[in-house]
Amino acid sequence: MLETDNPLVREYFGKIVGEDGLKIIENIPEGEITDETIATLSDTKLTAVRKVLYVLYKGRIAEYRTERDDNTGWITYWWSFNHDNIKKMMSAEADTVLGRLREELKYERNGEFYRCHCQRVLFEEAAEKDFWCEECESHFEYFDSGTLVKELEKQIKELEKWKKKLRRR
Ligand SMILES: [Zn+2]
Repeated sequence: MLETDNPLVREYFGKIVGEDGLKIIENIPEGEITDETIATLSDTKLTAVRKVLYVLYKGRIAEYRTERDDNTGWITYWWSFNHDNIKKMMSAEADTVLGRLREELKYERNGEFYRCHCQRVLFEEAAEKDFWCEECESHFEYFDSGTLVKELEKQIKELEKWKKKLRRR
């Protein structure tokens, strides 16, 4: 149900439910489902499934309703997932990451960098040190951040595309 092959989705949900949680989420079909069925589908212990469901419930991603069997008094929990909240949270997460990437891009685009054997510094710092690094005893050479800039631009474009897709679903 979730695009767990997307690195952003993996990172985000991995952070809040762990690797076990991801395995469980990956195996949850659409619609209502019991925790026992989720345990069977994901080949995970029921206690682990319940722990993950509780975390998702607190995050308002999962919700449940109960059904009582009149004969046995047994209560069944029917779980379902709030897709709107998932979308909202994913979108907010994407915005955070996008903001960070755009800051980084701005920094790489505007700066003029120099590199020695041990670090990368801005032009101002290299000039101050007469283009000589005392720490590793080597010259500061001009560093072309073009590749870095291209990589960042690519990441931003992909994330924006993914966000648009998320909105349409
Ligand atoms: Zn150095």
